Amino acid sequence: MMDASLPKAAAEQRAFDSVLIANRGEIALRVQRACRELGLKTIMVYSEADKDADYLKAADTAICIGPASPGQSYLNVPAILLAMNLTGAGAVHPGYGFLSERASFSQAVEEAGAVFIGPRADAIRTMGDKIAAKRAMMEAGVPCVPGPDSALPDDMAEVSKIAAEIGYPVIVKAAGGGGGRGMRVVHEASALQDAVLVTREEASRAFGTPELYIEKFLEHPRHVEIQVLCAGQGGGVWVGLRDCSMQRRHQKVVEEGPAIGIPPDVAAFVGNRCVEACRQIGYRGVGTFEFLYENGEFYFIEMNTRLQVEHPVTEMTSGVDLVRQQLLVALGHPLEISQEDIVCEGHSIECRINAEDPYNFVPCPGLITQLHLPGGPGVRVDTHVTAGYRVSAHYDSLIAKLIVHAPTREQAIMRMQRALGEIRIEGVSTNLPLHREILQDPAFSEGGTDIHYLEHWLAARSSK
Ligand code: ADP
Repeated sequence: MMDASLPKAAAEQRAFDSVLIANRGEIALRVQRACRELGLKTIMVYSEADKDADYLKAADTAICIGPASPGQSYLNVPAILLAMNLTGAGAVHPGYGFLSERASFSQAVEEAGAVFIGPRADAIRTMGDKIAAKRAMMEAGVPCVPGPDSALPDDMAEVSKIAAEIGYPVIVKAAGGGGGRGMRVVHEASALQDAVLVTREEASRAFGTPELYIEKFLEHPRHVEIQVLCAGQGGGVWVGLRDCSMQRRHQKVVEEGPAIGIPPDVAAFVGNRCVEACRQIGYRGVGTFEFLYENGEFYFIEMNTRLQVEHPVTEMTSGVDLVRQQLLVALGHPLEISQEDIVCEGHSIECRINAEDPYNFVPCPGLITQLHLPGGPGVRVDTHVTAGYRVSAHYDSLIAKLIVHAPTREQAIMRMQRALGEIRIEGVSTNLPLHREILQDPAFSEGGTDIHYLEHWLAARSSK
């Protein structure tokens, strides 16, 4: 892999020939595959609960880092650093979730002399603080939700003034919030004070900082996001848009790309602003700018400084292998692709398949007794599970991602319906029946449904 095209200085600084994958499940396998295609050795860390996972057998080295509980294994920084030192890993890939957006982890890995495959700690820190992120975005000309880019003052009279200027409804958000927690919608002035007090209290307790900010609450937006890929030395590209509006409790259920109905010049304008923001903060690696999209306007809400679950949608339409590119950038290579090279073709849809009850969403861990995966043209399945795999109660219930690609959205929907007809998972309950219903839904077929659509649809379904 240490090819001659790699600039000497960069090679000396960044070269590595082994990657420790600090994650589990489908994403651990996805990263392992990309490493293998680049000739990089893989070191997998695992918890006792994952000891029988097939992807461990395919690794060059596998090392147990602790018991099932994530706090003692996949979130256990000292154990992971120890595994890194013991195995001499040259780099660490954090996947998504777990430690992927923890600035102190990026820093600790680099201080220990290995490469963190992701942004530097300061960039993660800036983007992890929602107020700092909003300020950075405004400076780069990225459109944001109306509202100040500073923390709320303590004085309630001041806060009321700010809310009135924005205009109700507003949303009070914790600067350190995440995972859909730490925010409250306020529809009228009389409810503002309580919302601020409760959110501040929650923020101090859960996120370690009481800082809050406030912005306009958009009532019927879509969730549209932009994928970026940056080399640390300033080069960067955006790689198309995804629509992830089909959500339940802020969890994405179905994702697709491109996001339909958005004029290419508007998408290009916002995409270029995102790349500019990355340049300004010295961003390195892959990342996603998440927006709410309403009445033809984009409103930045947050940046995810890591690879996302739904990255295959972009890979299918753009032909860019995002994980490979992520590794190359970490190795110190300049970007292989320029903005002009990126052409997104056709349409891609991803269904997240979870081991859970399809309608009440209660996780269903257990033994997968039978597994039949779909195939044929334009179908991709990213999964670590096989027949005989036991789904653990300790982790996220995502067991597979079913992704299709076709020349048009209509054909992609037909293809997904076909693939959902072929797939069979037995032994545990999954959300496949829900996916089958969504893919038959006339509003989904039409496209452009907002982020509340699925919740309303589920509520209407359960009251039938
Ligand atoms: P988190 O980091 O917790 O995911 P986000 O800022 O990404 O927080 O917001 C999560 C979700 O909350 C969004 O996907 C959207 O559904 C809703 N939300 C956030 N800000 C607004 C807003 N200004 N107007 C309407 N909904 C919002």
